[in-house]
Amino acid sequence: MTAEGNGSIKVIDSHSVHKITSGQVVIDLQTAVKELVENSLDAGATSIEVRFKDYGLKSVEVIDNGSGIAPEDYDSVGLKHHTSKLASFEDLSTVLTFGFRGEALSSLCALSEAVTVTTATASEAPMGTILELDRNGRVKSRSEKTARQRGTTVAITGLFRPLPVRRKELERNAKREFGKALNLLSAYALVPCAKENKGVRLTVSNQPEVGRKTVQLRTDGTPSTRASISSLWGPRSLENLVDLDLCFQVQTEKSVLKRRTITEGEDSGTQVRVRGLVSKFAVGCGRAATDRQFFYINGRPCNPSKVQKAFNEVYRTFNATQSPFIVADFILPTNTCDINVSPDKRTIFLHSENNLVAGLKVSCILRSILHLIFYAIFIS
Ligand code: ADP
Ligand code: MG
Repeated sequence: MTAEGNGSIKVIDSHSVHKITSGQVVIDLQTAVKELVENSLDAGATSIEVRFKDYGLKSVEVIDNGSGIAPEDYDSVGLKHHTSKLASFEDLSTVLTFGFRGEALSSLCALSEAVTVTTATASEAPMGTILELDRNGRVKSRSEKTARQRGTTVAITGLFRPLPVRRKELERNAKREFGKALNLLSAYALVPCAKENKGVRLTVSNQPEVGRKTVQLRTDGTPSTRASISSLWGPRSLENLVDLDLCFQVQTEKSVLKRRTITEGEDSGTQVRVRGLVSKFAVGCGRAATDRQFFYINGRPCNPSKVQKAFNEVYRTFNATQSPFIVADFILPTNTCDINVSPDKRTIFLHSENNLVAGLKVSCILRSILHLIFYAIFIS
């Protein structure tokens, strides 16, 4: 803190401000890893390896075969609000990349003991450059003599060491936080199915303090959701799933019509498509908990709590004792939702959410009844 006047209101120095605001982007281990994996996906990687050491307490390393970082960008890579993905605020309505704020690496620099970036673009490979970044995201040292195929490795050591209370919290709950990170990584392992038609090979391992390194998750890089589910949880987990493909019209809510100018034809509503997989209704096909429910909006993993609740409610009208496994990607016009709501981007504001949830429920129930009739007629 620095004192300006004699009163009790003082200005916080810029280093402390940076630490505080960084703590909103990277709240825990899972958001730290998520940011790194999103950067790899944004760089067009088809292979991503995540290496945890001691459940992430010691370090987390994300290795990709993406575009790499060009030498002219080395100095800005860790600086706050420096991004290669978004040029102006207007771009936000059409942004297709996971990142767009240029905050993640700078936050990780402020919140970790050390951050190193090893990178090579196609023209530098097979030689790469190692950049060590300081707390402010500036390049502290640079060495250009390392073997590196095209791609980038970002290594974070001693996450939250600069924030002793949060570090203690992480150490106390290390395995639980690691479990949450794995669950979020599973959501990303299924993303490619939702996005384009590109598969990503994802491998996640942990090297504990004592004992052998173990592989925790692995997908083989095919663009099929079913294949990824099978790699993550075994082929038997597919037996109880059916394809989900819903299409319905969502009426634009009055509050939205008042708030912004709508595009032509939008006054009659927008078309929403939901694709993915869901558990069959039969007792025994669902799960005891809601632990495997993955939602995406235009391929972006998120936590739409009202949508999740709607799915579970409909499911429970048919199977009262269990919860469904769900992978559901909502495909809707980018101007009908807002991704710039929470720093971790997990909350997405759906402009006509109530109408969307109502439409989803009707559509799910109709589909479920049709399904039951089909089974009653053709199977039994
Ligand atoms: P954002 O993703 O919002 O742009 P970040 O702080 O996450 O912000 O990253 C800053 C910039 O660093 C990115 O815009 C990108 O140009 C570069 N970058 C980070 N990670 C990678 C990576 N794995 N591969 C290629 N470029 C990367
Ligand atoms: Mg990013």
